[in-house]
Amino acid sequence: MAQRAKIQYIRPAFRDLRDYDPFMEASHQFEKAAGCLDLEPWIYQRLKYPERELIVHLPITLDDGSAETFTGFRVQHSTVRGPAKGGIRFSPDASLSEAKALASWMSWKCAVLDLPFGGAKGAVICDPLNMSEAELKKLTKAYTFAIRDIIGPYKDIPAPDMFTNEQTMAWIAEAYGQGIGYLEPAVVTGKPVHMGGSLGRAGATGTGLYYILREVSKYIRYPLEGKRVAILGYGKVGASIARLVDKAGCRIVAVTDIFGGVCCENGLDIAALDKHLEENGSVVGFRNTSPIDNEGLIALPCDILIPAAMEGQIHKDNADYVKADIVLEGANGPTTSEADAILAEKNTLVVPDILANAGGVMVSYLEWVQNLQRYFLTEEEVLERTEKKMKQGFQDVVRTMEENKVSMREAAYILSVGRVAQTLRSLGREY
Ligand code: GLU
Repeated sequence: MAQRAKIQYIRPAFRDLRDYDPFMEASHQFEKAAGCLDLEPWIYQRLKYPERELIVHLPITLDDGSAETFTGFRVQHSTVRGPAKGGIRFSPDASLSEAKALASWMSWKCAVLDLPFGGAKGAVICDPLNMSEAELKKLTKAYTFAIRDIIGPYKDIPAPDMFTNEQTMAWIAEAYGQGIGYLEPAVVTGKPVHMGGSLGRAGATGTGLYYILREVSKYIRYPLEGKRVAILGYGKVGASIARLVDKAGCRIVAVTDIFGGVCCENGLDIAALDKHLEENGSVVGFRNTSPIDNEGLIALPCDILIPAAMEGQIHKDNADYVKADIVLEGANGPTTSEADAILAEKNTLVVPDILANAGGVMVSYLEWVQNLQRYFLTEEEVLERTEKKMKQGFQDVVRTMEENKVSMREAAYILSVGRVAQTLRSLGREY
């Protein structure tokens, strides 16, 4: 297979500054909630650290005949409320600290929606855009084989995340099935629909984001019609929320992807942008727009800012430039604690990741249930159940926010950490 041209990733500034540690960020957020809940020391210790961290090394023969060893992780933060649940990402920037943070965010996210899952995350350090399909298939199967003992439909259920997709999930199901002797679809969610995937899973995170935005708009009496929206990260999540807010009458003034970005004060034509993206592999160069980078997009005059790329993008050095009234977190951990404090000072409403982007894992939950029952729901049924659950999660967070007079993020943490702590207490898992 022909080698593809090397692609240059655009990395956020903090990567060079080396001043961002994802797990430390996750720990700060947890500690705030733990303080409010006055947790027993053993519960605090149990929830502060992951239950398990597995590091695997995967030697792969590449297309050119050379061999390279890739490092991967699977972190299970919690299995207190059910099997661990969370995606697998392929990324050159993946690290154990990142997987630990993302795994703990999954625990809290599942608890906010009251799903019967704990939290996990996996990653492989690799450059997926510069690997062939054959190489990615080998890497996925080797990774699955290496983590096979700790995953399973009642233990830990992976799903897609950055640079993994339904094909990756199909390979995981196959590799796991080879090990146990039969194909077990419930070991993984986000599969192709023809092999047990759920209808509605593909755009689920974006759909869930939209349900939450609608609830926010009603709660603060902030009509969406005519609002200017900027989306940092026009990937799976960014593109699906773009279509929905566009339909709701918002004006999308800027979007970025890993190659760059485009802005247009009068609003981007989303259908034409999607066509451009399909043809060119990036939003860059879309007609009648000016170029913009992530920092420019964060500082752009707009009403709703949707970070939908990776963690740590809104940090202490750019938070003060945010002009939006609402930051709707499509990504996991896009706002650092220092940035959170700056945004609170400015009265910016931050709708936290563990609530806002929970639509993905919600539909994963429905996929898992359908797989275990070998009985399938229609798309309408999936969407209806997802909307109901997201609305309930929003109401629970708002109630906690009003009762405790805290930010929406703190409320989401108090709610979710409190739920996991309550289960731990009932289990009496103190040693
Ligand atoms: N990767 C997604 C997330 O971060 C989905 C996880 C899942 O469906 O298990 O929420």
